[in-house]
Amino acid sequence: MKENRTILFVDDDPDMLEIGGIIIRKAGYKFQAASSGEEGMALALEKPPDLIILDYFMPGMNGSDFFEQLVTNAKYMPIRDVPVIILTAASEEEVQRTRLFELGLSAFLMKPFGNRELINVVDNVFIQSDLRSKNKELQEKVKRTEYKYQDLIENASDLIFTLNHAENFIFINRRLATTTGHDKQDWIGKKFTQLVQADDAETAQAHFLKTMNGKSSIFEVRVNHVNGNCIFLSININPIFEKGQVIGCVAIARNITENKLLEQEVIELKNFNESIIQSMGSGLVTIDLEHRITSFNNGAEDILGFAAENTMQKRLEDIFSRDDCERLLLNIDDPNQSLLNREMQLPGRNGEAIFVGFSVTPRYDARKRRVGTIISFKDITQIRQMQVEIQRMDRLASMGVLASGIAHEIRNPLAGIKTIAQTLEEEIEPDDTRREYVSRIVRQVNRMDDLLKTIFSYAKPRQPQRKFHRFQEIVQEVIALMENRMRSQGVNYVESYHKDLALICVDFYQIQQVFVNLFLNALDAMPEGGELRLSAQPQMTALTRVDRRGQAFPIRNRTAMYAEIVLSDSGSGISPGELNSIFNPFFTTKPQGSGLGLSIVYRIITEHEGDIQVESRVGEGTEFKLLLPTEE
Ligand code: ADP
Repeated sequence: MKENRTILFVDDDPDMLEIGGIIIRKAGYKFQAASSGEEGMALALEKPPDLIILDYFMPGMNGSDFFEQLVTNAKYMPIRDVPVIILTAASEEEVQRTRLFELGLSAFLMKPFGNRELINVVDNVFIQSDLRSKNKELQEKVKRTEYKYQDLIENASDLIFTLNHAENFIFINRRLATTTGHDKQDWIGKKFTQLVQADDAETAQAHFLKTMNGKSSIFEVRVNHVNGNCIFLSININPIFEKGQVIGCVAIARNITENKLLEQEVIELKNFNESIIQSMGSGLVTIDLEHRITSFNNGAEDILGFAAENTMQKRLEDIFSRDDCERLLLNIDDPNQSLLNREMQLPGRNGEAIFVGFSVTPRYDARKRRVGTIISFKDITQIRQMQVEIQRMDRLASMGVLASGIAHEIRNPLAGIKTIAQTLEEEIEPDDTRREYVSRIVRQVNRMDDLLKTIFSYAKPRQPQRKFHRFQEIVQEVIALMENRMRSQGVNYVESYHKDLALICVDFYQIQQVFVNLFLNALDAMPEGGELRLSAQPQMTALTRVDRRGQAFPIRNRTAMYAEIVLSDSGSGISPGELNSIFNPFFTTKPQGSGLGLSIVYRIITEHEGDIQVESRVGEGTEFKLLLPTEE
């Protein structure tokens, strides 16, 4: 090691050079000699030594000048770091020791010195310089590492910042600056809570305080971009410890704006779908593979009468009978069966049976695995009722055609029978008992003729001649016809008319026929007497009908003024089973009845664009409610 090191000895004293050479070589170093400052300089530049020993006092350039030149003159740059020892015989005051040390001088050695002393100083200087260069090397290494990490932090794809104990930014990396559009310097020294949006300041502060208590945390906040846009950051913040104390925090954040926007979009889409599902009139129920209910929309609540929250996680079998469930999910696993547009009966709200049209569709997840079933259904009870009504009208129409043919064919021969019977009657002696038989024939023929007339008027109804009439006038004539019967049967008749009742726009005779039929039926129902009430009041309505669930649905769109006529009796009443049939032609429960009265009533009222409803309780009575138009 030593033999590789060269020591340049500069002294104008040849004895000194010689002695120095002996000591240095003996200690194992290589030796170079120069007898003046200038020579020494040239030699040092030419063959850079590992150490220079300079005599302080030399003619021309002295040791101090030599050293000053070495460390300050650019010319000596390559050898500037070579350690230097100055030999001096002068007293301390004369030599500017402090200044030279400040310039980097390694050591002074006072003349005269002993052999060991010189070598000790030389060895020491080498040890020092070795340490210095090692230190320098290490420092450079540290600096390089520091640069590397700084570079890494600056260019990291994450947003990195540090805060001191007072929540002020100490450092923010480039990515944080570019992400927020702020200049780095905008943030240094400012408070963390100033970066985040006002709404999130509290959250940010809470997490900062938690971190200052030594705990890491992860949270999300919104920060404002310079351009006013909102940026969502997910921040992982950790305490920085020094000697067991938290002195601040380091945070790594990620820009999650895109994810957040996507998340918001998904939420909006979900809300959109949800609102469609909730607002549609149809019921929609989804179940999982164990038949547990996973969603139940407003439509389903309305139709079935269950609150959604009471059905969640219940099984389908908990709310419907096993049979109903089987029918609903029939063939659900058979891909060849159509699961659309089927119909069945279900218990609706209040337990009343309702008709539903329904479709069942298997539900799959994103990976096409079956996860459940979607059941959508519609309450078609009203449609069913309308279908029944249409069927009734159809039946009425075809009955009409049939009846008209029959009536026509029968009336001619009947007329013949009557004429012959009357002729025969005239020819038989008045006291002959057979005359009674003939007059019975005539009476029966008359009855048949009356019936045929009814059939005929039913079959070939004329168009109503609508004019404005007072309702009371129409009814008065009917009452006149009924008075005798009411009295003899012991029926108490009560009528009441609203003072503002408008004129009704109807065919006088047809409406009279309606009330004749209704009165006759009522009197038939009260053979032992009772009470018959008639009332009339104005009614502004859009002509609605009430379905089984008590819900009204419009059958005409326009609201208009009607006369509402209510006729109620306290008679035998009509059983629920018969109630659906009373308007059908030929439906009768009377031995002598034709079953045409109410079907004619029904047709006249519909032709007047009015309405007729009936309510009845067996043993209590029956109430007919009519709406008659007051407009043309
Ligand atoms: P008819 O009177 O010839 O039987 P309708 O069509 O007028 O024919 O009546 C049909 C059926 O409706 C009657 O047979 C009766 O059973 C029932 N009905 C009608 N009105 C009443 C009423 N006010 N009270 C009880 N039952 C009635």
